[in-house]
Amino acid sequence: MRIVLLGAPGSGKGTQGEKMAAHFGIPKLSTGDALRAAVAAGTELGKKAKATMDAGKLVANELVYGIVEERLAQPDAKKGFILDGFPRNIAQADVLEGMLSKLKAPSISTALHLHVEDEEIITRLHSRALKEGRADDTEDVIRKRIEIYNADTSPLLDYYKKQGKLVTLEGKGELEVIFKRIVAAL
Ligand code: ADP
Repeated sequence: MRIVLLGAPGSGKGTQGEKMAAHFGIPKLSTGDALRAAVAAGTELGKKAKATMDAGKLVANELVYGIVEERLAQPDAKKGFILDGFPRNIAQADVLEGMLSKLKAPSISTALHLHVEDEEIITRLHSRALKEGRADDTEDVIRKRIEIYNADTSPLLDYYKKQGKLVTLEGKGELEVIFKRIVAAL
């Protein structure tokens, strides 16, 4: 099972991805979490990424390739993996295919798209901002992230659809109900 999670910021990729990883016994990689950890640790990567992340923009592709390549090369990723937040544009999706073929691993099996309408996304991100205080969950930055998702990331829906790999599920509702839908669809 080699899964890419797609969906707007706040669509539930992180939460459902964690549950899927536990359920299927495969690792999950969130490039957003990895970048935030790098920022918190003050590494070179973190220093390069911070301002861009705070502005809600995508960091340079090259900054995330190393994170992904390293994680996919680890032995536990051989039996499968879940990617959350990568790829985020077509160039990254092409590079991902290249990484997998270099590792002699099969290609992505499913692109799982959690569809949540814009209004619900905005409400969720506002309440997450109050709870977690993420630097990129402010009003302007939320709008920017949604804009970038629509411009750069949503073309991936078509990209994976053309490959017959796209599964779209409704991401609004109870966490457990959505999780059951996911397991049934995979
Ligand atoms: P969201 O909740 O908006 O989906 P993430 O936690 O996945 O956010 O990512 C937070 C930020 O980290 C993004 O806004 C972006 O700046 C950066 N980021 C994460 N993944 C990538 C990626 N694959 N390419 C470029 N930037 C990324």
